Amino acid sequence: TTALFMGLSSFCQKTEIPSSVKNIETKVDSVLNLMTLEEKVGQMVQYNGSWDLTGPASEKGSKEKEERLKKGLVGSMLNVLSVEATEQAQRLNMENSRIKIPLLFGYDVIHGYKTIFPVPLGETASWDLEAMEESARIAALESAANGINWTFSPMIDISRDARWGRIMEGSGEDTYLTSKVAVAKVKGYQGDDLSDPKTIAATAKHFAGYGLAEGGKDYNAVNIGKNELHNVVLPPFQAAADAGVATFMNAFNTIDGIPATGSESLQREILKGAWDWNGLVVSDWGSITEMIPHGFAKDKMHASEIAVKAGSDIDMEGGAYEAGLQQLVNEGKVDEKLIDDAVRRILRVKFKMGLFEDPYRYSNPELLKSISFEEHSKTARDIARKSIVLLKNQNGLLPIKSSVKSIAVIGPLADDKDTPIGNWRAQGEKNSAVSVVEGLKAAVKDASKITYSKGVSLGEGERSFLMPLKINETDRSGIPDAVANAKNAELVVMVLGEDAFQSGEGRSQANIGLAGLQKELLEKVYAVNKNIVLVLINGRPMEINWSANNIPAIVEAWQLGSESGNAIADVLLGKYNPSGKLPVSFPRAVGQEPLYYNHKNTGRPSNPTHVTYSHYTDIENGALFPFGHGLSYTSFAYAEPQLSSNEMKSGENVTLSLELTNSGKVAGKEVVQLYLRDLVASSSRPVKELKGFEMVQLEPGETKTVQFVIDEKMLSFYTAAGKWEAEEGEFELMVGGNSQDVKSVKLDYKK
Ligand code: BGC
Repeated sequence: TTALFMGLSSFCQKTEIPSSVKNIETKVDSVLNLMTLEEKVGQMVQYNGSWDLTGPASEKGSKEKEERLKKGLVGSMLNVLSVEATEQAQRLNMENSRIKIPLLFGYDVIHGYKTIFPVPLGETASWDLEAMEESARIAALESAANGINWTFSPMIDISRDARWGRIMEGSGEDTYLTSKVAVAKVKGYQGDDLSDPKTIAATAKHFAGYGLAEGGKDYNAVNIGKNELHNVVLPPFQAAADAGVATFMNAFNTIDGIPATGSESLQREILKGAWDWNGLVVSDWGSITEMIPHGFAKDKMHASEIAVKAGSDIDMEGGAYEAGLQQLVNEGKVDEKLIDDAVRRILRVKFKMGLFEDPYRYSNPELLKSISFEEHSKTARDIARKSIVLLKNQNGLLPIKSSVKSIAVIGPLADDKDTPIGNWRAQGEKNSAVSVVEGLKAAVKDASKITYSKGVSLGEGERSFLMPLKINETDRSGIPDAVANAKNAELVVMVLGEDAFQSGEGRSQANIGLAGLQKELLEKVYAVNKNIVLVLINGRPMEINWSANNIPAIVEAWQLGSESGNAIADVLLGKYNPSGKLPVSFPRAVGQEPLYYNHKNTGRPSNPTHVTYSHYTDIENGALFPFGHGLSYTSFAYAEPQLSSNEMKSGENVTLSLELTNSGKVAGKEVVQLYLRDLVASSSRPVKELKGFEMVQLEPGETKTVQFVIDEKMLSFYTAAGKWEAEEGEFELMVGGNSQDVKSVKLDYKK
């Protein structure tokens, strides 16, 4: 009892940790043994911190929150946004509570904290895993120095639907690529083991299926079976779990009728059972209570019961656990063992992070002083230019020659310093990005050859995470000036796309073309000058069929973050040879969505002489720009791939090799992609699936041999019998610079 009243943390701080308390598990148990039921439930409660900790309790309920904090009845907070505020909340808890368990401070650090990197979809287009790990490392450092110790990132939901606003937050449509990104991000945020105060805990979210919302409408039901769940949705999560991600977040959606938050099968059987993962699961914002409108729980008590049984360890700002969990245990409806399991998971993360040793390790002024934001900006610029995808380049328009005398830079996003910061911008400041106009002016010798006209504005008024832009459909007053500017210039750079808050949570759209008057502006400029380079700044694949047919050069520049304009100038002027590849398919028309390269075949894939095959009668099948597509200022020649053997027996490997030559005139980097198809299997397999990629740097004329080791794991899938296995038979292995133009070889696999 003495130790109990001293509080275990001060006990750990002031006393030599007894040799019996050797490992984390023993420490976790020794804390758990000291806790009352009320305190245990408290650990499972997470509060939003956007209430004033210093001033009077203005917001309804904040006084009660403060009181609970003092009693040690809160385990974690989110959105507490300064070193002072986190320190104050931690002190309220540590200095007043009985048990003194340090708080976790979570925040959505999605693509940078202060230094903003490309939105995740854009960054994935770099296919550069080291770069993605590095941006997470920098985001972790900047967050840690500001008191944050937990990010709700990476989002690794597979998404095949450009209408879904949150497609910008993930890594696109491919399971293999997303799995690789998941591991890189976890490593970047968490370092080796979270013990370094420059690291923060990561979150694999949203478990599971959220990205496959029906019709691309946010929060909508997900109707997939086991085959899609195991083969498409779960592998990135398993990769994150294997990489040691500290936390998972569940999801708002139902999946096959069951809310993910209330899914015992997902959370207990798969994640905590089959995968044997011992971290904590946080609910999504209020997702426990949302089981009521889902028609799955009758009230908060019922929702809490379902969620805790399913394995949701923390209730994010839902107030459900706080209201009902203790009573449920007292009434015998919930076994206290389930509460103990949840609390163990929470304490484990806190011990791993060293918070019991130093609850304030994240409010260390030295850490903040040690940061070089200048260095971080350099990295941000480098990653931003690696994320740019050259979609089309005719007439040698790009790179822009230094002999070009006048460049008209036109469009609502050309001098926009805010949109590139994107949605989920953490502490990225408003209007803090380098615009395209600024980037180009800084990069050319004579800035006077750049003339800017906005043409039209995308929308009016304040907009933010909670307030989307009101699109301008009527004000054409700037068009004549833009057209005149274009007429007088040798070359036009048009910068169009989406506002920062057009994509992101709650931003699903039924139309994904150039919103407002942008298309009209483009057509009017095109009528007077056809030498147009179209630069797109956006968070989702867009419908740009007309542009693809008419505009000679198109550059996909996403929302690239703080250094956007500099990175775009690097690519436009040829200081960086573009190397990005699309992580999502671009549709010809929105009606094709969901559109993804790794679809299954139909029984009627094609029939040129008859209309009764699987297609839309008014449009060509397939993507406008396929998954994996991206051009370079040089060209690459792929030789036929060779296999070390056309037969492979169980337990063996074979090697696929191919020669890649830089057949152009400048040095360049190519992402060589390996795809595979299992021709006949116990369930119908996709027409192709990415299974490997290599980034190859080549001088002009240089040839390199690229090799991929083909093993059983690569051939295996979640079979009709419900296990991961490679099935006997023929496989087609394909290599190429995108998912469409591939060369293939056959492999026979025998058990
Ligand atoms: C989102 C999560 C996010 C959470 C906290 C929710 O609305 O779905 O991804 O982490 O809010 O901000």
